[in-house]
Amino acid sequence: MTTDWKQLIADVPDFPKPGIVFKDITPLLANGPAFRKVIDAFAVALGDSGVTQLVAIESRGFIFGAALAHHLGIGLTLVRKPGKLPRAAFSETYALEYGTDTVEMHADALTVADRVIIIDDVLATGGTAAATARLVEQIGAQLAGFAFLMELSFLDGRAKLPAGVPIHTLYPLG
Ligand code: AMP
Repeated sequence: MTTDWKQLIADVPDFPKPGIVFKDITPLLANGPAFRKVIDAFAVALGDSGVTQLVAIESRGFIFGAALAHHLGIGLTLVRKPGKLPRAAFSETYALEYGTDTVEMHADALTVADRVIIIDDVLATGGTAAATARLVEQIGAQLAGFAFLMELSFLDGRAKLPAGVPIHTLYPLG
């Protein structure tokens, strides 16, 4: 492939609100060789870590999580916004700049024998990924790492994540 997949992520200023530069991955997803390259790169980054389950964060984490789980031949667990999961679920609420947000995971999604990686497209302030890590802890599964396509390093989201857990970022920014 001649085009670097990183060139296929579009910066959209002031979306969804003024001051935010939104990282639009839709051109990357639309390019088959680039999308495949990203999934291959995730697989290389995770290496032979003995992971049994990917935990993907709604909604763009589902796209990368599903493709990577298929590639690795392991299961996929969905972390969703409140009220979307049909059966008993654990919840974690976290602070936003204004207000709070909540993520949920089915209470029987994982077992204590699972070794999991949490996956999303962007690590920004880290609140969503940290709350997802607490969901994994509630169930008692082993958290083996985090995988992000991009990391907005200037926001220092990694400071919110549990110490000592590996963070695999394909494209660190700023
Ligand atoms: P945070 O909890 O601040 O780390 O935000 C992470 C979530 O918000 C991820 O699910 C991302 O998809 C989304 N997100 C945050 N900032 C951006 C951005 N600049 N561009 C695209 N998505 C973003």
